[in-house]
Amino acid sequence: MTLQTRIPTLRRSPTVLIAGGAGFIGSHLCDSLLQRGNRVICLDNLFTGTIDNIRPLLNHPNFRFIEHDVREEIEIDDEIDRVYSLACPASPRHYQKDPVGTMKTCVLGTINLLELARRKGARVLQASTSEVYGDPEVHPQPESYLGNVNPIGPRACYDEGKRAAETLMFDYHRTHGTEIKVARIFNTYGPRMLENDGRVVSNFIVQALRGEPITIYGGGTQTRSFCFVDDLVRGLQLLMESPASVTGPCNLGNPHEVTIEAIAREVLTYTESASPLRFVALPKDDPKRRKPVIDTAARLLGWRPRVALKDGLQATIAYFALRVADESPTLVPALARRKRGPTRGMLKIAD
Ligand code: NAD
Ligand code: UDP
Repeated sequence: MTLQTRIPTLRRSPTVLIAGGAGFIGSHLCDSLLQRGNRVICLDNLFTGTIDNIRPLLNHPNFRFIEHDVREEIEIDDEIDRVYSLACPASPRHYQKDPVGTMKTCVLGTINLLELARRKGARVLQASTSEVYGDPEVHPQPESYLGNVNPIGPRACYDEGKRAAETLMFDYHRTHGTEIKVARIFNTYGPRMLENDGRVVSNFIVQALRGEPITIYGGGTQTRSFCFVDDLVRGLQLLMESPASVTGPCNLGNPHEVTIEAIAREVLTYTESASPLRFVALPKDDPKRRKPVIDTAARLLGWRPRVALKDGLQATIAYFALRVADESPTLVPALARRKRGPTRGMLKIAD
């Protein structure tokens, strides 16, 4: 498929293509880059992203939305300076729905974006993942750790796909001199996660707000380290604008490690919910521990997360409270009323 698009040019400000820009992280990145005066092309097939996430941007003179699948060749007339490669479902529920499709998104999508960047002379940032470390035998995880991924398990379409995408990034860098940045993103949460996403933070919050049981997979002793989306988006931009010699891989995540049961209890406290905990089977290959070493990001980018888990969870709860209240006004009226305000649940972080 060939796309012929041209953004009306008022002045030549940097043009940034965000593949996956209608998704959770991508839409926050669109907001932030537009606010900084960039022209933004959001390219997305709306598999897990929604127009709602970018609706306020659709009439912005520097914003353009293109519905397109990165597995198909990408042709755009505009000059492009930066390419953020975020197009890929991130939740196990969604990436396992069509595993071959996920692998193709990682491999063909990355090739198509790298080819576009090569033709345009643009710099590319790949949204890689802590999943490249698999079920890690080294804890916490530095970038030098090569990982422990099961190549034939149900998570492999995503984990191995993302590993292959990293390989492609470095091969284009070595072969064509493409300027690359590889970010290894650890679990990120915040407003605009999908309600039915299946990821732990959105699941627990929505269950607590609806008064349904909180589904803890396994014993709840497995750990993750959760980064609020505003911190992550700031880190992605710092990495993208770092000197050309900085290729990564660079871990971006919050080193504050918590058990899944502890997250459930925090969510219950902040939502003032009486939902019971329900322990159900642990999915296959579920990593037992995960915590980033962020020395590289701190040293090269001056980046550290700023948002405490409590504040990030409360902002995310405020977002979901409005959605759940809209869907069922009798369920969480007090919480929604309390949180309904001009920012609609978004945490405002000073730069
Ligand atoms: P998301 O599912 O909300 O966003 C992904 C976006 O990509 C969606 O808008 C989706 O419609 C789009 N997309 C998927 N397949 C596509 C295709 N073939 N062509 C075009 N668009 C496509 O997920 P997210 O949490 O915002 O994650 C964004 C990126 O960051 C992903 O690449 C993900 O792997 C990576 N990442 C996220 C996390 C996290 O905790 N959220 C952690 C590690 C890595
Ligand atoms: N999890 C859980 N209940 C849920 C959803 C997830 O206990 O309703 C667990 C899951 O088994 C994993 C952790 O929470 O141990 C994080 O899951 P998520 O899918 O959010 O991210 P990932 O496993 O990809 O890190």
